[in-house]
Amino acid sequence: RKSTVVITGASSGVGLYAAKALAKRGWDVVMACRDLEKAEKAAQSVGIPKDSYTIMHIDLGSLDSVRQFVNNFRASGKSLDALVCNAAIYMPLIKEPLRSPEGYELTVTTNHLGHFLLCNLMLEDLKNSNASDRRLVILGTVTHNPDELGGKIPPRPDLGNLDGFAAGFKEPISMIDGKKFEPVKAYKDSKVCNVLTMRELHRRYHESTGIIFSSLYPGCVAETPLFRNHYPLFQKLFPLFQKYITGGYVSQELAGERVAAVVADPEYKQSGVYWSWGNRQKKDGKSFVQRVSPQARDDERAERMWELSNKLVGLA
Ligand code: NDP
Repeated sequence: RKSTVVITGASSGVGLYAAKALAKRGWDVVMACRDLEKAEKAAQSVGIPKDSYTIMHIDLGSLDSVRQFVNNFRASGKSLDALVCNAAIYMPLIKEPLRSPEGYELTVTTNHLGHFLLCNLMLEDLKNSNASDRRLVILGTVTHNPDELGGKIPPRPDLGNLDGFAAGFKEPISMIDGKKFEPVKAYKDSKVCNVLTMRELHRRYHESTGIIFSSLYPGCVAETPLFRNHYPLFQKLFPLFQKYITGGYVSQELAGERVAAVVADPEYKQSGVYWSWGNRQKKDGKSFVQRVSPQARDDERAERMWELSNKLVGLA
């Protein structure tokens, strides 16, 4: 049988091109998307063959929707061999936090809590797969890491003591650290949680299940619609800045190939790691295992994040 991969947010950008690359490698791709019509058009626009994908509804910004997706996936009778947590929102210009149906701040819900719940529920499905190689991949980003050039631009991510999570993460709280709302920091914080989740999944479940858990930073994919909520001038200049100044620019096609490689290729069968490509300072484009940020490699924080997230998504 074909191997099956679920990719969240496959209706655009990195997720769409990862879907294309995995379909090309012979995978059965489940595109888990919030807008079914858009996803269908997107799949056709990049030429993914009709018989290699299925579109299923998920809204990562709603925990009920995540649970419903898992039920629908199970009802489809497919086996799950790989899961890619890719969907994300970035809302740099909003002044007030948006909220999920549960009342949680929406950027962290979509990027982290929704995926945290999805990973925990679908761990069961990965365990049930009879494939010898099963992988769970979560997208990271350079901006999670203030130790790197791309992560130095303020505001820097900081989960603090996760007091905002501990206090229930509902109005008037909007940030994980419980401090003032800052939409760019909310995005970066959520990506730190993504890396912590991957590392904690590895620590808890790799040995007992054999599942490979990993993250990657595919490079700066400056032309995806991720920046659609930014100033138009920024959207014009950012790709040029990345191409000619930082050298971090990668095409959507290449980013999709990198995700597909981490999902499917034998070289990437390593758990608990964060992949990066020597495409920023160096030009050779080779992949390597990169050290994550101090907060993202902090085991105590990982455990606290895990316990509090468990409560917020209703698993504990
Ligand atoms: P895009 O904005 O192009 O794609 C994001 C995808 O997530 C879209 O398919 C979008 O759906 C989907 N999505 C957003 N909210 C939800 C939701 N509530 N439920 C379901 N799906 C949702 O962004 P990118 O492709 O650039 O980003 C993808 C990933 O790559 C992210 O995790 C990002 O952090 C990471 N990344 C991106 C980099 C970059 O430079 N672009 C660099 C490093 C990492 P819809 O089409 O309906 O809006």
